[in-house]
Amino acid sequence: MNIEEKVRKTLAELGVNGAQGVESLFAELQKSAEAERAQLIARGAPNQAQAEKLGKALRDRWLARNGGLLSQVDEYWLKPAGKDLKPAVGRQFNELRRFTGELEFDRLIQALPLHKEACPPTELPLASAAVRPAPRDLTLPGLRRPLGSIHPVTRMQREIEDIFLRLGFWIESGPEIESIYYHFDALNIPESHPSRDDWDTFYVDSKTVLRAHTSPVQIRAMEKYGAPLYIIIPGKCYRHDNPDSTHSPMFHQIEGLAIDKDITFADLKGTLDFFAKMLFGEKVRTRFQPSFFPFTEPSGEVAVSCFVCDGQGCRVCKQSGWIELMGCGMVHPQVLRNGGIDPDKYCGWAFGLGVDRFAMVKHDINDIQLFFQGDVRFLEQFG
Ligand SMILES: [Zn+2]
Repeated sequence: MNIEEKVRKTLAELGVNGAQGVESLFAELQKSAEAERAQLIARGAPNQAQAEKLGKALRDRWLARNGGLLSQVDEYWLKPAGKDLKPAVGRQFNELRRFTGELEFDRLIQALPLHKEACPPTELPLASAAVRPAPRDLTLPGLRRPLGSIHPVTRMQREIEDIFLRLGFWIESGPEIESIYYHFDALNIPESHPSRDDWDTFYVDSKTVLRAHTSPVQIRAMEKYGAPLYIIIPGKCYRHDNPDSTHSPMFHQIEGLAIDKDITFADLKGTLDFFAKMLFGEKVRTRFQPSFFPFTEPSGEVAVSCFVCDGQGCRVCKQSGWIELMGCGMVHPQVLRNGGIDPDKYCGWAFGLGVDRFAMVKHDINDIQLFFQGDVRFLEQFG
């Protein structure tokens, strides 16, 4: 029985009643499709018109909506398949569709070698081609696979990294599964702090969490390198947030830390102002407002004047003229001490920002979920 006959019989009629039988049936089809393509290439065509005709014929034989081999597989194998076989048949059918799609029968038109004394133009061989493997032409172009592009969050992260690398910071990283000590205690976060609550932090066990911020790496880096220290810490963080347009249980942070002798809040302001101008344009201004974090004292929130409306008020800045960017502050003396650095000799400042949020602001994206859904229609806009 050749494949044309097989695709016009149901699986029951073919005596196939297990996943293994389904697999080998589909494997036979894949082999045939590949062999027919190779055979056509080996034969070539006497002229361009004939090449087009042959390429189209092969495409139609497999993929035509009415009467193509795949449509018959759908009709005779997939649709009538019993409950137990349906998942296996469906999976294999999708795989076959993908495979035949990648064979790009249409593009054979360009690839077919033209030669004057080609065999007379005949219709495609309808007998099972799988039994006659054709020689491969190694000079033909390979199968084309679409090129990806850099994810907008990665792109944003690299842009931010580049600015700080130019300022003399280096990149440091740490574990995403972190101990309670590095995550809370060493950062001066008291037992009573709400972020210790199960509802904010994912606990692996009573002493281990999925990190909710990149700050534990501050302590690890202080222990490892001592002072002076200029680092940025990019990485994934996790919080017990329900996904909505501004929250995601997994998100990306970049944290910066500078420790040296005689550095002040003025250095922090100058650095972040420079950073904002590099990222959003020379014209933006920065605004610092007091805030509170357990690991910095004093602490501040940084906003940048809206780079879209120049502070006049628009949709991007929600009519306020300002866009909240990040938190920052002077490193708490106890945190320095916890990292093994003498706060009487050294001081430091730090800041932390959400990379996803930066990418949303910069590209005017209104839903953080778009970053993580893998929808090509969204992602290819950033190619
Ligand atoms: Zn605005």
